[in-house]
Amino acid sequence: MFNRLIQFKNQLPNGVNLLAVSKGHPESTIRLFANHGQLEFGESRLQEVLPKATSLSNIDGIRWHFVGRLQKNKVRGVVKICDFIHSVDSLSLAERVSRISSEENRHPQVMLQVKFLEDPTKGGFSIDELLENWSKLMNLSNLNIIGLMTIPPVDLDLDVRRTLFKNCRNFADELGLKDCSMGMSRDWKEAVEAGSTWIRVGSLLFGDRVK
Ligand SMILES: *Cc1c(COP(=O)(O)O)cnc(C)c1O
Repeated sequence: MFNRLIQFKNQLPNGVNLLAVSKGHPESTIRLFANHGQLEFGESRLQEVLPKATSLSNIDGIRWHFVGRLQKNKVRGVVKICDFIHSVDSLSLAERVSRISSEENRHPQVMLQVKFLEDPTKGGFSIDELLENWSKLMNLSNLNIIGLMTIPPVDLDLDVRRTLFKNCRNFADELGLKDCSMGMSRDWKEAVEAGSTWIRVGSLLFGDRVK
């Protein structure tokens, strides 16, 4: 398992960060990964990240990234635990994360989730919505907006994914944002080629999810 992790990391170009998406995998596995130098972990539910972060808080340098759809009533919990939120998908959510971060004296690194194609199964800004709200977003306190995140619709060919990842990279560049959170187990290569800076990889590292 750890040879796989180390090989995987070694082949990534400079500037590409590996987010190990540990949802569905136990604390014991996360601890082993941390012992092998992987300290960035992604989770998609507050109920899951809260107990994990609590019992693994003695691991030096471990950081939690929230990657799932963020419900309003979970914002405070997530802001207290997570250093990164990859899935801020509307202005109203961004405003709420900002207000609660100020109250909690937190400064999360935020990525704005963008949809480059219609996809009713996912949240996210359209390009137009993001442009319309850009100045408001940039003025929110306590948020470091560092990049864009995107998840292609499930049934897309790799070629189309590649194009979509490039669109995301170009849009981030236009906005002056450094990071793009894109690429998962099955399309991380295409995402890296297109200029991803955070690949979010779960099953390829951990095997199938257990819960
Ligand atoms: C689960 C998940 C991943 C990881 O998916 P794999 O296919 O297991 O690599 C990445 N991003 C998000 C938002 C997820 O929910």
